Formats: sequence, C-alpha cells, structure tokens
Amino acid sequence: MRTVVLLGPPGSGKGTLAGRLATATKLRHLSTGDILRDEVARDTELGRKAKVHMDRGELVPDGLILDMVRGRIGGEDVLLDGFPRTLAQAEGLAEITPVGAVLYLELTRDEVVRRLSARRVCRDCGENYNLLTQPPATAGRCDRCGGELYQRPDDVPEVIARRYDVYEKDSAPLVEHYESKGVLKRLDGAAPPEHVYAQALKALGHAQA
Ligand SMILES: [Zn+2]
Repeated sequence: MRTVVLLGPPGSGKGTLAGRLATATKLRHLSTGDILRDEVARDTELGRKAKVHMDRGELVPDGLILDMVRGRIGGEDVLLDGFPRTLAQAEGLAEITPVGAVLYLELTRDEVVRRLSARRVCRDCGENYNLLTQPPATAGRCDRCGGELYQRPDDVPEVIARRYDVYEKDSAPLVEHYESKGVLKRLDGAAPPEHVYAQALKALGHAQA
C-alpha cells in the first residue's frame, strides 16, 4: 500500500472516514489540521511561523505545511486528510512520498449546505450536535449540561455556500491532476456513512472486515 489522500468538501465526513480507514488499512492517519494545532501548541519553529499567518486570518503557506508533513511522514506510507489542498502542495507531496490512491468524496453544494447548517453548539460546554445526524435528546438543549444550543455565525447557509465555492475552486485543479495520474477514485459522499466506508475500502482493494 502506498500513501492515500482523502479529498472532500467541508461537511463530507472526511475526518471520521479517515479514522476508520486508518484502522482498517493500518496506514497512519495524518490530518494537517491536527499537525498544525500540535506544532503551534508545542511552540516549535514551524508552529511559530504558521501562527503568524493564522493570527492574521491568512492561510498557512504551502512551503510551511509541506515542511510539517515531511517531518511527520518520515518514509512511511500514510493516510492524508486535509492535504494537499492545492496543486503546489500536491507537487511538493509527490517529492516526499508516492501517492497510490486519492479518494474523492463528492458532495453537492446543496448537500453540504444542508448538513452544515444543521450544526449546533452548546453555549456552556461547547459540545457539538447536528440536527440531522446527532440531534440532542431535548430540542435546543445540551444533553451533557442542559446549556442552550446555538448556531455558529459561520454555519449559516450563505457562509457555508461561500466556503464550498472556495473549496471547489481550490480543489478542481487537484482533482484533475490526480485524475490524469490515474489514481483518483470518486466516492458518493452523499451516501450513508456505512456505504461510503464500504466504497472506500473497495476502492483501496480491501475487503470489508
Ligand atoms: Zn453543554
């Protein structure tokens, strides 16, 4: 097995799928979001450089992200989630590790809006809910602490739609790139999670356990 990349828009359930696939395939799961938070928390040189951009609300530059990923991969095959995000990052990644398969979770803009606008957060303890997939026992109240549930301002339809459009625009050249290399596998991201997982295992040539 070679390095596997997971692509998909926000709300596609990529992180959860990555966790399950890592267990099934024995590939180490690397999430760039987690790596970034860890480097910043440990106050490493890369973390400090990245934080300057994050504090300004900018994206962390490709070169920095690549350096972090290079440090974590160390010659192993891994399962990457949230990376590469751009064509430049994909080209950098190819120099670090050969990519054997790219799983692309396809989801329409409407479906992403539907899913993400159903998210709610507890005002008191920060617990996350989703009215579609993980609703609270009592409407509007947190199961854990009884706090009030609210919708984050960036989870309203117009903002979600904008996030989706940005994702689309960035990832289209990436999808094309991997398609031309013959490693892209499209998955129906709108299917129930169990079905998406089965599709992913099949695409990687793994029988379902
Ligand atoms: Zn709560």
